[in-house]
Order: sequence, then structure tokens, then C-alpha cells
Amino acid sequence: MSKIRIALAGIGKIARDQHIPTIAKSDRFELVAAVTRHQPPEGVPGFTSVAEMMEAVPDIQAISICTPPRGRLKLIREALAHGLDVMIEKPPAGTIAEAARFQPLAEAAGKVLHATWHSREAAGVEPARDWLKGKIIQKVICNWKEDVRVWHPGQEWIWEPGIGVFDPGINALSVLTAILPEPLDLQSAELRVPENREAPIAADLEYRMGDAPVDVAFDFDQKGPQSWDIIVQCAEGELKLSMGASKLAIDGEPVELPEDPEYARLYRHFARLVDARQCDADLTPFRHVADAFLFGSRKQVAAFNW
Ligand code: NAP
Repeated sequence: MSKIRIALAGIGKIARDQHIPTIAKSDRFELVAAVTRHQPPEGVPGFTSVAEMMEAVPDIQAISICTPPRGRLKLIREALAHGLDVMIEKPPAGTIAEAARFQPLAEAAGKVLHATWHSREAAGVEPARDWLKGKIIQKVICNWKEDVRVWHPGQEWIWEPGIGVFDPGINALSVLTAILPEPLDLQSAELRVPENREAPIAADLEYRMGDAPVDVAFDFDQKGPQSWDIIVQCAEGELKLSMGASKLAIDGEPVELPEDPEYARLYRHFARLVDARQCDADLTPFRHVADAFLFGSRKQVAAFNW
């Protein structure tokens, strides 16, 4: 089977850390070009627009978009108009209304749209969902705490309204909504916003899933050990996902999981969608983020400086 000729748009941290090495190892994709305002990946030509790229490099079939979430509509429309299947990084867009347009636009163009959730591809997610089926869930605790200076060094877009700690937090929401058997209902939210920024640096969210409380804490100013943990207490025992759901333990006993990196799984899923001519664009985690902003109280906290 010939490889899918793919381009990348937005050559920043995640493109360099994950997308470029994953495509290089893939037997289904070949990186052939980039849309970038700066430096293309080594060995491929870079262009400032999709139109310019499509004129210069023939037969590109797909594009993977790794720009910040705001402003993707123009890029996606242009890609679809040039006949490309489209994969996008999380969060899908700057607004819910914009994100909701992507799949209908792709379908109208006869193209594939994959709005990805890389954390849902973590090795522990599927086994956790399977283990939780039929269990009596009593309480869920989620702590997603990391240091923005380490994971988003100098990225000013991360402090635009509506993002902040919800950029990593949406990963936790993508996992929670994948493993829990019923929807989450938001009960209360507190967003803590630095006095010199537009977006929260921390948030506490209280949900219910059925009768069970689901307590979620996000922090973007975590010093020392980072935590990306979800604990589900059930009548039958306790499940713990840690390290961003790449590790799973039941009643403290580690569960053996296959070594299968998130982004390798993500690109395999995109290849399946391309083969089947299907879209996959679940906006549920993004709706929860929007609800937190709609519903949450704001508390001003100390200024944040890099
Ligand atoms: P980043 O390092 O800031 O890179 C984003 C790239 O997009 C820039 O380098 C730039 O590439 C391009 N770009 C186009 N318009 C831009 C604008 N207005 N402002 C800034 N950059 C712009 O960000 P990132 O960490 O790679 O994140 C990109 C996306 O991936 C986000 O949606 C993020 O949530 C997601 N993500 C990030 C991580 C992580 O650990 N950092 C993990 C998973 C997912 P050119 O110079 O090539 O134009």
C-alpha cells in the first residue's frame, strides 16, 4: 500500500516533539511539505500557505494541523478546498461554534476530518474503560497539575482568553469522558486568573456522574513532581490512571500495558479514517471547557510571569 503524502502546518513544540518523529516511523504516512511562517522540518519544503504548497508539491493527500487552536477555520477551509483530508491537534478551535463547523465542511467537500484527542490514545484508557463497565462508581478524583514553563515555554497564545490551564486540562476531560460510563454534569467551577493574564492558571471543577462526585483540579503552576492522575473509587475496588493515562493500577497493583505511543496510535487511527472515508470529531471535552467558562466564578490571583 502506498504511503499517504501528508503535510504539517505549524512547526512548533508538538510538531517537533511528536508529529515529525511519529510520521518518520510510520508505514502509512510520508511527510512531504509544511505550512510554516518560520522553519520547515529538515528535508521538506516549507510554504506560507496551503495554496502555495499545493501549487509546488503535487499529490499531497492530507494535512495535520499543529497551530494554536484559534484561527484554524481559514486554514481548514483552504485545506479542504485543495482536496486534503485534515487532522487537527486538540483543542479543536477557539470557539465551540467554529469547531462545530469543521466536520460538516469536510463532509460537504467529501474529505476526512479527524479532531484528535491524543490523551485518549494513552495505553491505559481502553483497559480502564473496559474495567469500569458495570462497576458501581462512588467517587472520581482527577488531578492534572503541570508547570506551564516546562511544557509551554514562552507560548503567549496559551494565555489568550479561554485557554490557560484548560489546554492541558482538556486532556484530562478527554480521558474522563472516554472512560466513564455516563456523562459529566458540572455543579460548580472556580477559575483562578492571574492579575496580568486573560486565562486561568488553575481551576477546580465539581461534576457529578450519576450520583458520584467527580472532583477535578487543574494547576498550571505545579512545582516538583507533575501529576496527571485520575482515581476512580468503585464498590468493587479502586482504579488509578497516572502519567497522563499511560499507566494503570487496580487496587494498587500495576496492570501490564502494551508499549504503543499515543501519537503512533493517533496516526494509525487517522489512516483508518482516511481508508474508510470517515470523520471523527467528538467535541465533548471542548464543550466541557466552554461550560466551565460559562458557569465558573473567577478569582484573581498573583501575576504570572515566565
Ligand atoms: P507552539 O510551540 O506555540 O507551536 C505552534 C506553531 O503554530 C508555531 O510554532 C507556529 O509555527 C504556528 N502558528 C501559527 N499561527 C500562530 C500563532 N498565532 N501563534 C503562535 N504560533 C502560531 O505550540 P504547541 O505546543 O506546538 O501547540 C500547538 C497545538 O498542539 C495546540 O493546540 C496544543 O494544545 C497542542 N498540543 C501541545 C502539546 C505540548 O506539549 N506543547 C501537547 C499536545 C498537544 P510556524 O512557525 O511553523 O508557523
